[in-house]
Amino acid sequence: MKAAIYRSKQLFEVTDIPTPKPEQGEVLIKVNRSAICGTDVHAFMYDLAPTGAVLGHEFSGVISSVGAGVTQWKEGDRVVGGGGEWPVGKEPPARSHPRYNYRTMGFVNTRTRGYAEYTLLDDWAPIPIPKGVTDEAAALTEPCSVAVHAVRRSSLSIGDTVAVFGAGPIGLLVTQVAIAAGADVIVSEPAPGRSSAALSVGARTVIDPFEHDPVQQMVELTGGKGPDVVFDCAGLKNTLQQAFDVVRRDGQVVLVAVPWESLPLLPAEWMAREIDFRSSWGGSPADWKISLDLMASGKISTSSLLSDASIITLDEIQEHFEALMNPSTQLQTIIRM
Ligand SMILES: [Zn+2]
Repeated sequence: MKAAIYRSKQLFEVTDIPTPKPEQGEVLIKVNRSAICGTDVHAFMYDLAPTGAVLGHEFSGVISSVGAGVTQWKEGDRVVGGGGEWPVGKEPPARSHPRYNYRTMGFVNTRTRGYAEYTLLDDWAPIPIPKGVTDEAAALTEPCSVAVHAVRRSSLSIGDTVAVFGAGPIGLLVTQVAIAAGADVIVSEPAPGRSSAALSVGARTVIDPFEHDPVQQMVELTGGKGPDVVFDCAGLKNTLQQAFDVVRRDGQVVLVAVPWESLPLLPAEWMAREIDFRSSWGGSPADWKISLDLMASGKISTSSLLSDASIITLDEIQEHFEALMNPSTQLQTIIRM
């Protein structure tokens, strides 16, 4: 089968490797669509991915064959490659290790293989794709679960005004999940393609932070109070400070993006407003299921994240990873197997 193998130092090799066979308790999935995640781009950029690994943890496909003892799946079942309830002892390190540090402990699950034609998973790991959810949309269940997790961790309640900094794939999903939860959403995003996508998924207004001060604009748009909850989905040098600057008194800032550099903060500027801060990491199995339900009911549209240019072949993976390393205006990229 064809697979993109990470050879270290920002290099993939697309080559043929043996198709794996499912052992006891495993399923073989034929991958149809595999999304490129920002986490994989970081792993590529900072050379964190183990040499020889086949990355890719956002994919959809069909069950191709099952190993001994597997009863809940049959050939042809449509599945998302993750989101199953973790059996005790199989939780990912962010949920099981008391001091998990992504920067120093990095990638631990090297078995996920979305950038290949076939991949093996334990039978508990995949979840079924509901009727009406396309393969492309289903491949985005994992990033969607990140957005659902962030909103569920927040103090958002119906009728709140929410600010979202950054309308990349995660920001666009957080915008839609917050709207589904009853919020009125204002977005800060400079890239024109991303800001029009934010409007198309229901943001009330998008502010271009290079044209206008987003803090001042958002305060004005909220009657002088500031938004109730602010999600930083950009993680840039100034966005976390802007999130603290703009949030209302006693409001909440949620960090969803993963900044890889120190960020300058001036707490005296905003501490007197007694702001809550939360970070959010990944999604839990419940968040994956909620994501698929929101897609099935039409409350989340992934088509706004995708254009024709976003669907690539496995052979084009290297050039797309190189392009994604630069601060980008791209939305979501999906590999069609
Ligand atoms: Zn991801």
